[in-house]
Amino acid sequence: MSFSPRARVHLQNIVANWRTIDALVPESKAGAVVKANAYGHGVARVARALHEAGCRTFFVAYVEEGAELRNAIRADATILAFNGADPCDADLVRAHRVTPVLNALPAIRDWLALSDAPDYAVHIDTGMNRLGVRMEDVSGLAGLTACRPPVHVMSHLVDSDDRSRAINVEQLARFKDAASHFPHARKSFANTGGCFMGRDYGFDIVRPGIGLYGGGPPLPDGIELKPGMTLEAPILTVQSVQPGETVGYGATHTFDTARTLATVALGYGDGFLRAAGNKGFASLGGIVCPIVGRVSMDLITIDVTQAADLAKPGAFAQFIGAEVLLEEQARRAGTVGYELVTGLGHRVRRIYD
Ligand SMILES: *Cc1c(COP(=O)(O)O)cnc(C)c1O
Repeated sequence: MSFSPRARVHLQNIVANWRTIDALVPESKAGAVVKANAYGHGVARVARALHEAGCRTFFVAYVEEGAELRNAIRADATILAFNGADPCDADLVRAHRVTPVLNALPAIRDWLALSDAPDYAVHIDTGMNRLGVRMEDVSGLAGLTACRPPVHVMSHLVDSDDRSRAINVEQLARFKDAASHFPHARKSFANTGGCFMGRDYGFDIVRPGIGLYGGGPPLPDGIELKPGMTLEAPILTVQSVQPGETVGYGATHTFDTARTLATVALGYGDGFLRAAGNKGFASLGGIVCPIVGRVSMDLITIDVTQAADLAKPGAFAQFIGAEVLLEEQARRAGTVGYELVTGLGHRVRRIYD
């Protein structure tokens, strides 16, 4: 028996989700965004499984992540690093064949000044005002890069969570305009939410991240994505409390009836959300067990009164999975699935099935 939390990572579900998304836009090939340790699922195992399924384009944020990924997968895959590279990263980039996505004209100038500059991609800012070459600089960019054009040109949607927003259509028009300056580059535009917006948004490659792991915006009718992981915490103790008693630090929850509680090994020290105190929930055998009191560093107490038969030391309570949807758990804590899965720390053992 183990008294530490575990994440069972479902590689087959992640591959199935990748195939589902790949089929959404038949003219476009799905890549895979595996930054932040494949959103907490384990980059080496996830990338190898996706590569085996036919994925040949991977996206990370940092070139160091790209180098780690290159060491994990076979040779015939493109790895792009969103946050770009400094010329002093050129050796790392060459050694691991990572393609940096350059995000501003000065960085592109510096890159092209390298002797034998490695391949690079360019991010066009079509409205996020965060990263990328601005629209007014695109024709200058085309001139600057005419003798050594980018191999990949991309942009990123501001609000793919809300498919009805006009800004998506405006960004698409700007991206089409910008992309027309780079006829030989591969193009990508859609993250997970963008993959549900129709063929116009697909271009050559789509860049799903959170959807591969079963999270993201509400799905269109008829589309299903499966959980990328099941996060579970073992019950350490079971105890009964009387009306008027409280639980945990700060006595933030007072019971008005007699309850059965279970304390499990999981906390914010594992990356679970402290904001889920008195708001989030677990599942025991499909029965909802609310989190009562604060989330501590290594412990959470749940109300197992409705599931008292199942609440035994050593039994595992689910905190993310088929019974506790990632986005629902995150929403209750006032955040998004991205933050919950990417935050899970090293103490959560990853088990692959
Ligand atoms: C993280 C990221 C993605 C993936 O987004 P999801 O919403 O997780 O699908 C795609 N493109 C860029 C530029 C990103 O930073």
